[in-house]
Amino acid sequence: MLTLLASAVFAQTPAPDAEFQALRRRLERAGFEVRLSPPPQSGAYGQLTVKTRMIWIHPIVFDLHIARPTLIHEATHAAQVCAGGGEIQPLGLDLEPINYARPFFFHYQHPQRRDLEREAYAVQTQPNSYELVMALLDKHCPGGKP
Ligand SMILES: [Zn+2]
Repeated sequence: MLTLLASAVFAQTPAPDAEFQALRRRLERAGFEVRLSPPPQSGAYGQLTVKTRMIWIHPIVFDLHIARPTLIHEATHAAQVCAGGGEIQPLGLDLEPINYARPFFFHYQHPQRRDLEREAYAVQTQPNSYELVMALLDKHCPGGKP
């Protein structure tokens, strides 16, 4: 028992879970590349580069156990890119993020940028965030369906 627990505690970086993998495959079918390496923007856990449709996920998110919400956040931005036909645009979601997420997007001065982040934080903090982002990808990136 102790041995098992100890090996769990000292396990190496946990493998991505099934939903992370399924969402990654869904994004790749929609023409996005998901790269598990530090994003160009220093200090970011995740980043989407609109022009190249590259999604960067910092490997540290697996140790921090925030890999799933981080990918869901970037996947919301991916749906925004599909909705804008290659340019990023808000989806017009009628969703508000939980209050403690407000400092993470409220500092954006540009109203559209703030709207983009408000939607991404709103989706990632919903109880059904995974199903929701999958539905958004199906709606806005339909060409990526199998
Ligand atoms: Zn964002």
